Amino acid sequence: MASEFDLIARYFTRPAHRARLGVGDDCALLDVTPGCELAISTDMLVAGTHFFPDADPQRLGHKTLAVNLSDLAAMGAKPASALLSLALPAADEAWIAAFARGFFALADEHGVELVGGDTTRTPSGGTLTLTVTILGEVPASQAIRRSGAKAGDDIWVSNTLGDAALGLAVLQGKVNLEQSERYYCIQRLEMPAPRIALGLALRGIAHSMLDISDGLAGDLAHIARASGVSAQVDVDVLPLSPALRGVARELALQCALAGGDDYELCFTAAAERRTAVEAAGTAAGVSVTRIGSIVPAAAVPVRFVDGVGHELALRLGGYDHFGA
Ligand code: ADP
Ligand code: MG
Repeated sequence: MASEFDLIARYFTRPAHRARLGVGDDCALLDVTPGCELAISTDMLVAGTHFFPDADPQRLGHKTLAVNLSDLAAMGAKPASALLSLALPAADEAWIAAFARGFFALADEHGVELVGGDTTRTPSGGTLTLTVTILGEVPASQAIRRSGAKAGDDIWVSNTLGDAALGLAVLQGKVNLEQSERYYCIQRLEMPAPRIALGLALRGIAHSMLDISDGLAGDLAHIARASGVSAQVDVDVLPLSPALRGVARELALQCALAGGDDYELCFTAAAERRTAVEAAGTAAGVSVTRIGSIVPAAAVPVRFVDGVGHELALRLGGYDHFGA
């Protein structure tokens, strides 16, 4: 059976171009572009919690990196390098090869260099766990934080919301969709597209930003709390795909407002910057939709209203791993 070192050499070692030293020594050595700050984040995917244990390994390779790239996108940072740590129940080489294919395909798309990681075997019956640490760069003081929203800002989101949650419901057998919509929603769940280009284009425009991973309701509340403001969202203008528009309104809203795994960007910008925001979306090749506005701090961090101003009567919450 292949050793840890064989697996690393065979599947995870590629010549370093940008890094001074990549995989193979005790540490990687990286240069940082003068005038830039390092943006660093880590995200872990655990079998049974974040994906089905029998998930397609190539898609999993994509998603493991994608969710991390999404965090860079959310700060307006440019991807540079990644570390990959794997806790594997078995050294299934076909599985690892497919995982590496998915991982490197997305890495190459975004110019990410894999510079290190860790590879361990779990005790028998252990849980497959995939962890990426991502590093990016952003010019000093230009990172877009959660805490910059101001009363009067517009609230925007990229692309459409809730597709991944509907895809999950389909895989769980809770919802039936027609074939092409089924495929679309599962694709959105398993192959998220990190909005790197949009994040970069919004530097100097967006006041605050995050990526939506646990549902708009919970994630927008993070912006509101961090910024000391409240948010008001018009649920009738939420961008919904044809798949979402084809299901019952209640289910569509649950998916769009409280479903996980969207990996779209939610950001705020001054109302005077609408043209600039739209130009950023066009340049990045992704639609952007204005869904509400930031208001002075109120009793609740986020209010959802319909087109005629009635408050939405739905109990919503983002996904919380430790929630009741
Ligand atoms: P150490 O014992 O110093 O932690 P390891 O034997 O764990 O070193 O790893 C050897 C080299 O391979 C290191 O450079 C490490 O960063 C790299 N590495 C280990 N696992 C991975 C992986 N899954 N992907 C990329 N690089 C890896
Ligand atoms: Mg090690």
